Amino acid sequence: MDLLRSVKDRTDETEFYTPLPDGYTLGSTKYVVVFGTVISGLGKGIFSSSLAKLLKDKHLRISPIKLEGYLNIDSGTLNPFRHGEVFVLDDGMETDMDLGTYERMLDQDLTRQNFATSGQIYSTVLAKERAGTYLGRDVQMIPHVTGEVKLRLRELAVRSRADVVFIEVGGTVGDIENAFYIEAMRELSYEEGEGSVVFVALTYVLTPSALGEQKSKAAQLGIKRLMEFGIHPHILACRAEQPVLEKVRQKLAVYTNVPMRRVFSMHDLPSIYLLPSIMREEGLDSELVQLLNLGGRVNSAHELRAASEWHRFSSRIGHASQEVSIGITGKYTALRDSYASIIKALEHAGVANDAKVNVEWIDTTDIHDGNVVKALETVDGIIVPGGFGTRGSEGKISCIGHARRNKLPYLGICLGFQMAVVEYARHMANLEGANSSEMDPDCKHPVIDILPEQKKIEGLGGNMRLGGQDVTLTPGTLAAELFPGADQVRMRFRHRYEVDPRYLDPLTQAGLIFSGCHPHHPIMQILELPREVHPFFIGVQFHPELTSRPLRPSPLFVGLVKAALERKSKAGKEEAGMQGMHGIKAKQEG
Ligand code: GLN
Repeated sequence: MDLLRSVKDRTDETEFYTPLPDGYTLGSTKYVVVFGTVISGLGKGIFSSSLAKLLKDKHLRISPIKLEGYLNIDSGTLNPFRHGEVFVLDDGMETDMDLGTYERMLDQDLTRQNFATSGQIYSTVLAKERAGTYLGRDVQMIPHVTGEVKLRLRELAVRSRADVVFIEVGGTVGDIENAFYIEAMRELSYEEGEGSVVFVALTYVLTPSALGEQKSKAAQLGIKRLMEFGIHPHILACRAEQPVLEKVRQKLAVYTNVPMRRVFSMHDLPSIYLLPSIMREEGLDSELVQLLNLGGRVNSAHELRAASEWHRFSSRIGHASQEVSIGITGKYTALRDSYASIIKALEHAGVANDAKVNVEWIDTTDIHDGNVVKALETVDGIIVPGGFGTRGSEGKISCIGHARRNKLPYLGICLGFQMAVVEYARHMANLEGANSSEMDPDCKHPVIDILPEQKKIEGLGGNMRLGGQDVTLTPGTLAAELFPGADQVRMRFRHRYEVDPRYLDPLTQAGLIFSGCHPHHPIMQILELPREVHPFFIGVQFHPELTSRPLRPSPLFVGLVKAALERKSKAGKEEAGMQGMHGIKAKQEG
């Protein structure tokens, strides 16, 4: 190992190529690597983040990283239809939705260093080749590309000062695009030495309906595939619909040499939030601690506190005393993954309000003022979420108008903020023909227009206002009330267009309140209606769903659900009152 350290980047003198960042000592950081076998869609992100959370609960410093197989540099240009929502980190990186799962589970902000794609790895290698870094050698998948992967992990270890770097290898073992990641993990384990790297294989135990019994063959073959790469898993986690039978676990143990106590059943649960507690009960975390020799660093008092706090949250899921219905409008209504964080934020807000939130999807393509009443008949509140392009935008405006006139609780997010400005401009501020120039570049009143500083930047990738920004709140407003004690909040943005400041006067004179804006520039970031006019009508240029956490729900979602519950209970009372009246009338008439 000393040899490895001394040669650093020099590839001409040795076959060992192990570039190490400054300040890194081999064997000092622990690594957990999770691979998926058999099929995709096993919930690898949820499993990995829950396991990482268990280690964090022990007061260990955790830094997760997702290794994505695709060649895109980031997720910004991916279609949410195909790939789920784009999750934006505080530093502006556009990532896979799994990073959202990690941020929520770990209650920890991540950075671009926690997300690697094949595209990033290859482009770095190619740039180094052009810069002559490889000193005349032919540049190869092994050791240079795999070396770059290991370098990324070790840089993360140094910068985050993590006790454990938690690695999720994207895709399924056997995919061509992630093969070099798997090879890099094998090399990592060799270089870091005994007790530093633990391999976890997430696999799938099939239950064919014609047989009605669990079969382990596919899982065996999946794990065998991993072993062909020279990786022998320390832990097997078996996904299945029902608890995995002892006999099936035995079979897997025999075929893989993984001791029975490390073959776990990870069967379906009523809620993903139950997973950490179940894993802890089964002892998955203690096996990790033992394998990585982390016993001395564990803080049991901290763990106890964290576990009971989590239990208080998770035990309330599915046991709410009331229900409420929130409509979400949008173009991607066919694919719930495109709104994953909004659904999570509503779950968090539901628990905070002791309510089950039922989501109703509203496709606005065919909605207009004539049928909007019917379309929103059954909801107690609505969200118009973020989006791009013209489709359904007039339907959204109809929904917003209906919510405004009928005191239906409203939360507009990003595009939902912009469309609320357009609705108000057209119907309250006498600006006929108002629109966003995204929807109609030639409209009479482009109340929403492209940011001047953004106009200079061209091309599709990377021309948006991205990442965390401060929002200054106006005292005395609903926004300020939702964030008590804060005069500034930090929120995540992902947009190109904004309110054109030239229209601020007519809009505010007509009664619209801008209750949150950029600390220095006239960029409007929160709008609302006075509470005398509407109980809860708020729009935000940012994405509050991205920073909602199970134990720290977003106040905007909590406020929406609360207002929707109040409206529902008021409507219920009015109805009961009406029935009472009918009863009296009937009696009198009788
Ligand atoms: N399309 C709008 C813009 O680019 C809104 C973006 C969004 O909702 N994320 O500004």
